[in-house]
Amino acid sequence: MSDDKRIAPQDQDSFVDDQPGVKPIASFDDMPLHQNLLRGIYSYGFEKPSSIQQRAIAPLTRGGDIIAQAQSGTGKTGAFSIGLLQRLDFRHDNVLQAIVLSPTRELAMQTAEVIGRIGEYLAEGKQFCETFVGGTRVQDDLKKLQAGIVVAVGTPGRVQDLLKRGALKADSIRIIVLDEADEMLSQGFADQVGDVFRFLPRDVQVALFSATMPEDVLDLTKKLMRDPTRILVKRESLTLEGIKQFYVDVEEEHKIDTLMDLYETVSIAQSVIFANSRRKVDYIARTLNENNHTVSAIHADMTKEERERVMNTFRSGSSRVLVTTDLVARGIDVHHVNIVINYEIPMNKENYLHRIGRGGRYGRKGVAINFVSQKDAELLSEIEAHYHTQIEELPVDFAAYLGE
Ligand code: ADP
Ligand code: MG
Repeated sequence: MSDDKRIAPQDQDSFVDDQPGVKPIASFDDMPLHQNLLRGIYSYGFEKPSSIQQRAIAPLTRGGDIIAQAQSGTGKTGAFSIGLLQRLDFRHDNVLQAIVLSPTRELAMQTAEVIGRIGEYLAEGKQFCETFVGGTRVQDDLKKLQAGIVVAVGTPGRVQDLLKRGALKADSIRIIVLDEADEMLSQGFADQVGDVFRFLPRDVQVALFSATMPEDVLDLTKKLMRDPTRILVKRESLTLEGIKQFYVDVEEEHKIDTLMDLYETVSIAQSVIFANSRRKVDYIARTLNENNHTVSAIHADMTKEERERVMNTFRSGSSRVLVTTDLVARGIDVHHVNIVINYEIPMNKENYLHRIGRGGRYGRKGVAINFVSQKDAELLSEIEAHYHTQIEELPVDFAAYLGE
């Protein structure tokens, strides 16, 4: 996994005052974890827990509910994967004991991979974690379930469907994790997620993780959770120091030329370009490709196979520029992304943070460039004020901020 020994910013001050019961533990060895889980953690390449892992893993192992917030790219997946794995009983390796819900197929698959690898020695090589997402044949899901699995990672629609069919059995589920929890509890998903909860045992452990936890979501959680441990980040600490944010003043019709001017730089690095609609994504990708600027594109109108192919070529680095909608805004972890371009400013403040967080993973450096036309200007200054952050005009030598 990590190509070097980068340590995520261990920024103790960024969290809202630690609650009783939340004591950072500076080493995985000092956490209450099975020997074979520790083996999995170290062989995956983690040496020292990140700040969220130092705080969230122990409460998770105790079985209580938790709301855990930490900046993007600081290891939330590791935190809930390790906590969840410690909660499982592998003597019953054909009984479903945990569910993780993710907002997109791509993220579900990425997360299942992490859990599978960190849990490898607990399961003694057995395939214990499977993905259940839309766009695939239910028949194939049923096949995966025949051998018996312990962890299901999926998108809410498909998981709900499989629970209803009785294919996924909920009686023995001990823990449910909502990754990108604020998104999972938002309008788009709330009904499906609510349905999933209706199948779960009453005493199920509920864990919510996200980089953003808006107030209205925190209110919603009261219904789902019992006296949760809360680990929250101060709003002004949410933007990462390692990700420099810039803007370019450019009218809508000149954005595409500006992007082509930047192409040289963005393709030296690895970059993600966000637009607000699928149509705009197609337009950007088509125009760049027609002008011999090779880019890939991904959005929700594409088939599962196309989406997988595009993600794989991007992850492997053989495609260096990805144009997308907010489909990729959350969770996707590609180490070498160091430039994020907002061709349009997102309508929602949370997604701004998630988008720019696709760069600068785990303490790496990154640059976010916002294309600001008249219609975007107000949104961007609201974002600036909301996160107490400074977005400066793009200097000519911005590549200096890209890190090595
Ligand atoms: P988040 O969900 O907080 O945005 P991820 O869980 O996707 O972040 O982790 C970001 C990157 O950091 C991943 O590539 C992951 O492998 C790496 N990472 C996480 N925890 C550690 C650790 N303890 N040591 C080294 N790398 C880590
Ligand atoms: Mg994540």
